[in-house]
Amino acid sequence: PKIHIGMATCGIAAGALETKAAFEETLKERNIEAHVHTVGCLGHCYAEPVVIIEHPDAGFPPIFYHEVTPGKAKMLTKMYIEGGDPRFEHVYGATEVNDMIPSVMDFSRFSMEKRVVMDKCGKIDPDDIYEYIAADGYAALFRALQMPPEEIVDMIKQSGLRGRGGAGFPTGVKWEMAFRVEHENKIVICNADEGDPGAYMDRTLLESNPHQVLEGMMICALAVGADAAIIYVRAEYPLAVKTLARAIRQAHELNLLGEGILGSEFNLEIDIFEGSGAFVCGEETGLIQSIEGYRGMPRHRPPYPVKSGLYGRPTVINNVKTLALVPPIVTQGAAWFRGIGTEGSPGTAVFSVVGDVVHPGLVEIPMGVTLRTLIFDICGGIPNHKGFKAVQIGGPSGGCLPESFLDTPIDFDSLTGAGAMMGSGGMVVMNEDTCVVNVSRYFLDFTQKESCGKCTFCRIGTRHLLSILDRLTCGTAHEGDLDLLASLAGDVKAGSLCGLGKTAPNPVLTSLKYFRDEYEAHLKEGR
Ligand code: SF4
Repeated sequence: PKIHIGMATCGIAAGALETKAAFEETLKERNIEAHVHTVGCLGHCYAEPVVIIEHPDAGFPPIFYHEVTPGKAKMLTKMYIEGGDPRFEHVYGATEVNDMIPSVMDFSRFSMEKRVVMDKCGKIDPDDIYEYIAADGYAALFRALQMPPEEIVDMIKQSGLRGRGGAGFPTGVKWEMAFRVEHENKIVICNADEGDPGAYMDRTLLESNPHQVLEGMMICALAVGADAAIIYVRAEYPLAVKTLARAIRQAHELNLLGEGILGSEFNLEIDIFEGSGAFVCGEETGLIQSIEGYRGMPRHRPPYPVKSGLYGRPTVINNVKTLALVPPIVTQGAAWFRGIGTEGSPGTAVFSVVGDVVHPGLVEIPMGVTLRTLIFDICGGIPNHKGFKAVQIGGPSGGCLPESFLDTPIDFDSLTGAGAMMGSGGMVVMNEDTCVVNVSRYFLDFTQKESCGKCTFCRIGTRHLLSILDRLTCGTAHEGDLDLLASLAGDVKAGSLCGLGKTAPNPVLTSLKYFRDEYEAHLKEGR
């Protein structure tokens, strides 16, 4: 038997370390031979600690057990691993008697998802490079090493891959610009400075399958002619940093990094840079400043980093998920990737869906799936028989959409058209009891604190916006505050240099547009 235990941060926070210890202890006590297999996150974060048991002798498919405490682990070891009886009632008591034991393969959520980035998450041990290789890992690098760099760039262009960090810029076009620059010391940076409230896709991917990201970085470096790469990851992600460091060491041992990679002339070193938690360092010029040892302050572009980036070297910066999509494109082809999603947004999107949903967690869907399908069919809808109020997409830079937008397809252009944005994949669902004015205040408070202070409109304008929202939520607002809020929000957008300031007013502007009555109620009723 094989016992898979999810040990990403979500699992550990819910007690997976204790669950693992309980399995190991009970197996030892009862002298049972079974393999306890640590894996990353499967995306069912609401159900952690998640345990999947494969017991071929008992004749059942792999079975999914949720919220497995140490006590339940002991019970499962005795009743199922030893006794061959997988019924839920032994684990959860008579109240949860369920004759239909859920096989992992039958889980309805999986049938509606399309896993490309997360395909191996929750299945392989992220600390074991051989498990990645056994699941066809590094086959794409091997293939890319036999292709001329132009051909790799062209393949990524043909695939239509757009950057998953938020802006949706065509990745192949960025790579082509870097490829065409004549320079001996080009560099690739993986942007893992994830900081939106409620977003944790990049962290989970790095904790669950770091090699897919490293492989994407290697192929990018090979394509553009870089010999150095850096992963900029938040220091607040200690498990991701540790997992990445181990993965890089293992890749070195197998000559997937270093000099003469796999007998070729390709040389590459990948280093980790730990960021200090400033949201603005997710902006690429702010990120570069931060690595160079300066305050993370964005600068004017051009020059764009692909021409002059880190220490003046041509620098390609891609998000974690963008790079993780590269190996599957190289092995399965541009046409395969174009066959997923929509014409303007090929491929899949990974979201962390949090807030008022029955099954919060990580979901990977083909682009074009509607918000309704994602929230209601995949994530189980709103708990406690409450109604849906709104969804905030794209974190503090995104927009707040009401029920009338539930049939909007999720893709770069449709979301922008609706006044929201894809962002990097954070999604906060709100039920009918939520006050959207309070939510707007929360997001603006975040961006105001994260402003680097360089531009007057962003530094002072967001402060004024926040003070108006404070007045509204405290019941001290005055006539004209709503008009002032709207016009100042427009000025902050227009007068800010980088994406942080340009998008900070989005939650206010969209909620003011779609929920103006709530703002007016605050104004009139003084609450
Ligand atoms: Fe800094 Fe804000 Fe200006 Fe961006 S918009 S550079 S965060 S002050």
